[in-house]
Amino acid sequence: MSLLMLADERHCTGCCACVDSCSHNALSVYTAEDGHLYVAKDSKKCISCHKCKKVCPVMNGIEYSSNVVSHSQPYSVICTNDDLYAKSTSGGAFAAIATQFISDGGYVCGAVFDSNSVKHIVSNDLGDISRMQGSKYLQSSLEGAYKEISSLLKQGKKVLFCGMGCQGAAMYSYFSNNKNRNLLYIVDMICGGVPSSFLLGKYLENERRSKQVVGFRKKGKYTLLCKNQHDEIEDLSYNNLPLMGFFSGLTNRYSCGDCRFCGVERLSDITIGDLWEAAKTEKKQKSVAIVHTPKGDELLQNTQDITKRTTDWNFIRYNYRCVVGKTMNNYRLQRILLAWNFKHLSYKTLCGMYGCSSKNPIFILLKAYNCIYRKIVNVYIRIRLNNIIRHLSEK
Ligand SMILES: Cc1cc2nc3c(=O)[nH]c(=O)nc-3n(C[C@H](O)[C@H](O)[C@H](O)COP(=O)(O)OP(=O)(O)OC[C@H]3O[C@@H](n4cnc5c(N)ncnc54)[C@H](O)[C@@H]3O)c2cc1C
Repeated sequence: MSLLMLADERHCTGCCACVDSCSHNALSVYTAEDGHLYVAKDSKKCISCHKCKKVCPVMNGIEYSSNVVSHSQPYSVICTNDDLYAKSTSGGAFAAIATQFISDGGYVCGAVFDSNSVKHIVSNDLGDISRMQGSKYLQSSLEGAYKEISSLLKQGKKVLFCGMGCQGAAMYSYFSNNKNRNLLYIVDMICGGVPSSFLLGKYLENERRSKQVVGFRKKGKYTLLCKNQHDEIEDLSYNNLPLMGFFSGLTNRYSCGDCRFCGVERLSDITIGDLWEAAKTEKKQKSVAIVHTPKGDELLQNTQDITKRTTDWNFIRYNYRCVVGKTMNNYRLQRILLAWNFKHLSYKTLCGMYGCSSKNPIFILLKAYNCIYRKIVNVYIRIRLNNIIRHLSEK
């Protein structure tokens, strides 16, 4: 009998570390009825070696993050290379660091569009950085990336990984006993959660003028960018299922609704995110880069195309997802009935239900209810934030 234990659907982050760890091909990735990636096991192939459990950041109980700071330091960062800056989501911290890393002989692992889905690739080609730039509001598949990184580390190559907190934790776990672990640099991101792939799938199925998504954001402006049938890129603004559904958080993975990989202190080398605090007063969008380790410090010091300044922890007031993982969305009806809704309801109903503007009185009422609900949850978030900020400023 197989004793293989995988994280269940409420806790699995879809990081795929277990899949890459299995040398008997007993594990495979599938898209479940809620549009998220999960892992299935083939009991006949499993030899109960428990490698999968050891690398799983949920099952191995790794303490990846905390809101108690002992050595992490936040910086406000802006990329001074205009081309790199323009294509980045915020201040271009990732592009500047990655460009330097490849120029110094290393490899970078980052998320790129693969038709209408997203996957991580590993590359030492500077031309691939522009494909990695930009936030893609879809889960990126890491299947195969761990094996590729493992082989590069074995050859003595340096590798820089950039992904979400749960993916950073998975990288950390996967390589914790690797003898070339010091060659791996982990940059994780502040993350508001990944939405169901059904949002974009339903959109493209019904809005026939768009055939392929190419972006979700232009700096501080959230907007869906799609290629039309003539291969022209159209700016479709934000009142659509992919973006409104993303903002609502109501289709996120269950693990995102109770994320245990956020916090001001992490086991990654650097955490990057949007510096919304600066966006309120300054023209240029900035990134925040929280340096956690001497390796993270080395990365930032070595990067030529950036200006950086130390900043205080106050930025988390404008970016609560850096520190608060619980959102209550897991207990909302739209989330609980997600699989059923996407199977049975019309596109128009789904749009109204997941946040697009609608003239239908039921959806106007639902939107008002959602607003009130969010305001109540925000009180809880504010209290949590104030406690965390008070604690940090005492340091
Ligand atoms: C789903 C999602 C939710 C986010 N939520 C927040 C948030 O709540 N608060 C916040 O401050 N920042 C959030 N971010 C990060 C933010 O949008 C910027 O990526 C960050 O500010 C870094 O900007 P940049 O200009 O340095 O780099 P960018 O040009 O944005 O590139 C950063 C990196 O993002 C990686 N990336 C892009 N999409 C994905 C993906 N789907 N999965 C894994 N990696 C990906 C790329 O590989 C690249 O390495 C989120 C990003 C994503 C993808």
